[in-house]
Amino acid sequence: MNRRDLLKYASSALLLSSDIAYSNEEKKSNKFQKSLKKKKTEHPRILVVGGGWSGLALAKNVKQRVPQAEVTMIERREHFVSCPISNEWLVDLVDLEFLTHSYLDAAKHNNYTYLHAEVTGLDKKHNILKTSVGELEYDYLVFAVGIEYDYLDWTDGDKVLEQRLKTQYPAAFIPGSEHITLKEKIRNFKGGNFVLTVPNGNYRCLAAPYERACLIADYFNKHEINGKVIILDTNSDIKIKAKGFQSAFDVLYKDRIQYQASVEIESIDLDKKVIHTGFDDIPFADASFYPNVKAPYLLEKLNMTRETAHNRVEADINQYSYKFKGSDNIYACGDVRPMGFSKSGNTAHSEGLNLAKMIADEIAGKTASWHSPVTTCFSILTTQPEKCISLYTEYGYDENGGMVFKNNITDESWKTNDLGKARVAYAWAESMYSNMFD
Ligand SMILES: Cc1cc2nc3c(=O)[nH]c(=O)nc-3n(C[C@H](O)[C@H](O)[C@H](O)COP(=O)(O)OP(=O)(O)OC[C@H]3O[C@@H](n4cnc5c(N)ncnc54)[C@H](O)[C@@H]3O)c2cc1C
Repeated sequence: MNRRDLLKYASSALLLSSDIAYSNEEKKSNKFQKSLKKKKTEHPRILVVGGGWSGLALAKNVKQRVPQAEVTMIERREHFVSCPISNEWLVDLVDLEFLTHSYLDAAKHNNYTYLHAEVTGLDKKHNILKTSVGELEYDYLVFAVGIEYDYLDWTDGDKVLEQRLKTQYPAAFIPGSEHITLKEKIRNFKGGNFVLTVPNGNYRCLAAPYERACLIADYFNKHEINGKVIILDTNSDIKIKAKGFQSAFDVLYKDRIQYQASVEIESIDLDKKVIHTGFDDIPFADASFYPNVKAPYLLEKLNMTRETAHNRVEADINQYSYKFKGSDNIYACGDVRPMGFSKSGNTAHSEGLNLAKMIADEIAGKTASWHSPVTTCFSILTTQPEKCISLYTEYGYDENGGMVFKNNITDESWKTNDLGKARVAYAWAESMYSNMFD
């Protein structure tokens, strides 16, 4: 089977490789225009870039809502590994199988196409998406591409330092090798300071760095490792579930976790293993440096981003329609969106469902309206015995378009928790995997 046949087989979307591409004359002709129009109304071609929590929800749901649509999800990874519950995996509470799922199964069970490829470019004028294995035409295109790291605050453009930070002290907030490296670090830790940093802004999973600190401290307790977890937080306070986390640091991990707020890292000396802040020099035996986050470079390259007041790059979309500026059929959803919703799996998933409905409504000629995504977030604090805190929130916009929290419920009362609550965290994850893959 040659590449073209393979793609034809793999993707029900219309493939345009060089040998079967329409000529310019054909494109200009009425025949071509008519066939495009016909396609759009009868079998809309919907491309979803990214098989994360939002992309998977969207691909499945839009296919359910618009069965005649040709839905293709393009993902560069070969299989899905969940970030939620990965903190628990780092300290051996679940195995890798729990986190790992098959894109082939998701596509097969839900009647859409999974194309294993990297998206590299876009011809907006002709509605053509360029991938590492060929080109695809679309009527609707969604970028559900997650986040990228932004090391600039620490490196000032020093690419060697950036590479060393990524390789030697990975953040492990994007699934892949980073997590494996971090797990090895924890497992092989011999003692001393284990530093975790917390970025500012709306970084991915506000609770995860604090939960990770607790679980690493718990692991040190269990394995009698003479280590201390030092959290260097850029923010002036714990960003989320602050009461619950602070009391866990104070009560459960008085001698294990040292929390420092408002830390501005001025430089990191990786050779001497010292972090220089405005106040202090902090030596570390090992570390995981979590930098700021931004929209992926792909969007920047495609001129689909804008700069924030803090010189961060974010997706240039309308906060109600999710459409990119100047476009009527290209959207973003999930962690890549710039709105202040929590960058979490549950939020991204619910947003994928909402956007699926909005696209289905557009296809049906109805007015598409915005609905709030939903954040549900569990953080396990200790396993001896299991204790967990949780949060639920929805969102709205005020009359000036500013984001507001609605129906916010937090449960930070871990001291009175029973075992069942931590079990709910695993049950939540299992039900989400089932939503995406079954
Ligand atoms: C340690 C940790 C713990 C967390 N815990 C929780 C939790 O308990 N609860 C919770 O709700 N959330 C949690 N999260 C957050 C959650 O993982 C993210 O919010 C969620 O993954 C966002 O989904 P997404 O679809 O927007 O992005 P992603 O899941 O990052 O998916 C984006 C996908 O796009 C693909 N992609 C990007 N560019 C391209 C391209 N050019 N071509 C092809 N494919 C591309 C990527 O490979 C990726 O698979 C946690 C995150 C971490 C790191």
